[in-house]
Order: sequence, then C-alpha cells, then structure tokens
Amino acid sequence: MEDCIFCKIINGDFGTEFVYENEDAVVFKDINPKADTHLLVVPRIHVESLNELNDEALLGRLMMTVKEAAKKAGLKSYRTVINTGKEAGQEVFHIHIHILSGDIRL
Ligand code: AMP
Ligand code: ZN
Repeated sequence: MEDCIFCKIINGDFGTEFVYENEDAVVFKDINPKADTHLLVVPRIHVESLNELNDEALLGRLMMTVKEAAKKAGLKSYRTVINTGKEAGQEVFHIHIHILSGDIRL
C-alpha cells in the first residue's frame, strides 16, 4: 500500500530498526511510547484492521510473534492491545499488536 506508513517501514523506507522479525511480521519500537517498553508487531501483509483479517493461522502466528519478541526484549510481564476502528483509537490502518510493559500509561 503506497500511502501506508507501516508498509513503508516494512519496506525499509525510514531505516527503522526491527527489534525482532520473522517471515510473517516485523517488530519495532513505538515512536510515541505509552510504557517503559512499547513495541508494535506488524504483519508484512497490508490488512487494515482485525475486521479485515480472515487468516486465522496468521493471527495465531502473530500472537506467537508477540511471545517471541517479548522474550527477546527480556519482558516477562506485558500487556497486548489491538485497537480496531477509529472510535477505539486506531490511528494506523495496517493491523498491529501493541506490546506494553513496565509503567503503562494507556
Ligand atoms: P494505533 O493507535 O493502535 O493505530 O497505534 C498506532 C501506533 O503507531 C501509535 O502508538 C503511534 O505512536 C505509532 N506510530 C505511528 N507512526 C509511527 C512510526 N513512524 N514509527 C513507530 N511508531 C509509529
Ligand atoms: Zn500497510
């Protein structure tokens, strides 16, 4: 997707550092952190939100990616959040899973 900021990040357009990555997803630090550690798990394919995601196997692998990225970041305790739709606070319309740990300000 041309105008999608997360597609651009996945494409390497901004030189964003990936703290973890695999075949399905990349994981990077949120630019405006709401916790001591705030990571975003973003699938490589462009899907607007959970409402448009029909691949349940991919959703399962994304949750495994959450676990693997948290482990790599040394997080034992963390919160996962998926905002779906504007009214729920979704700002970037490329599905992503927030990982928040430490002092959570959300
Ligand atoms: P959401 O509100 O669930 O759509 O979350 C979008 C998140 O993306 C917000 O927490 C933003 O701070 C974060 N964000 C937006 N642009 C960037 C960027 N260029 N790099 C890292 N995080 C970003
Ligand atoms: Zn995208």
